[in-house]
Amino acid sequence: MRASIALLFALALSVVVPAQTRTAKTLDVYVVDVEGGNATLLVSPSGESMLIDSGNTGAGAVRDADRIMAAAKEAGLTQIDHLITTHWHGDHFGGMAELAARLPIRNFIDHGPNVQPGAAADEFLQKTYPPLYAKAKHTVAKPGSKIPVAGLDVLVVTSAGETIKSPLPGAGGPNPYCASFKPGENNAEDPMSVGTYVTFGRFRTIHLGDLTKNKEFELMCPNNRIGTVDVLLGLHHGVDTSNSEVLVHALRPRVAIMNNGTRKGGQPDVMKTLHSSPGLEDLWQIHFSELSGQEYTVPGMFIANLLDEPSPAMPVAPIAPPPPGPNAPPAPRHNGTAYRIKVSAQADGSFTVTNGRNGFSKTYKASPRPGTH
Ligand SMILES: [Zn+2]
Ligand SMILES: [Zn+2]
Repeated sequence: MRASIALLFALALSVVVPAQTRTAKTLDVYVVDVEGGNATLLVSPSGESMLIDSGNTGAGAVRDADRIMAAAKEAGLTQIDHLITTHWHGDHFGGMAELAARLPIRNFIDHGPNVQPGAAADEFLQKTYPPLYAKAKHTVAKPGSKIPVAGLDVLVVTSAGETIKSPLPGAGGPNPYCASFKPGENNAEDPMSVGTYVTFGRFRTIHLGDLTKNKEFELMCPNNRIGTVDVLLGLHHGVDTSNSEVLVHALRPRVAIMNNGTRKGGQPDVMKTLHSSPGLEDLWQIHFSELSGQEYTVPGMFIANLLDEPSPAMPVAPIAPPPPGPNAPPAPRHNGTAYRIKVSAQADGSFTVTNGRNGFSKTYKASPRPGTH
């Protein structure tokens, strides 16, 4: 009897003990392969976690929730403290219910109502989402507000089509790329994306969801309100309705990690912008992309994922993106093992990026002047 009570007590403890038992001193970022969707997990040295998006709807939901769980397990997490859903597209909220069934999510963050009517998103918002956050916290993100992750400084810089109005400390200089900006096209939801800027000691990173070119301009022109970053995350999968020079070149990332799919993103125009970005040391891709071809892609050692049945050689020429809509040809399958790209950042601003597929790892020394490399 005594033993079983002790066991119950131990079990209860193991349930209520928060995740703050981590001994790591790094901010760890796990970029998960969700096949051209987004799921990026940040884990503070405190053990608190923030997941940005939850992968794809439909047939991809279970697969993507499993892949996020694998990252959470590697990080030793027993809960997700904050889940940001950047916007209401199926490649960003799709695995949420499956994930919530696997581990507790404490705070659900979004930009507010869906502004691009669609059956899947509307039904999700009416029926599935409210019961999920009813048991937790629900936060509508506002530019300028902070997301309380112990050990990190997480600032919302865009949400619901609004941007921060005043520059971050040390930023605010004129952005020389604004003069040649060309407006882009976009759907209704991408520009609503919740964008977050994360500081850990001297290390800075930013994830803007699928924020589009016109909003990049509003955020970065005429003055660069953000300054520079060490790592640029997301990049709207490398799709060419985003990733203007006013954003990418002005942020001067040392490393960019693109959450592209096999046939989504990595298009020539975006790759040209990235490869010509001042100060960029490396672009890492979560997938090889047929839209890049050998002509535009990075060496394979910087690419985390192939296909279930990889082709013997990647064509040199990029292919054109498939037409959108229900008749689009399916991308080649990748439902087998998926690999992550992991960033481990130190408070001094240095960081290491590792490709989970081949183990290739590269360390970037701290930049000499914080945020102004
Ligand atoms: Zn994949
Ligand atoms: Zn997307």
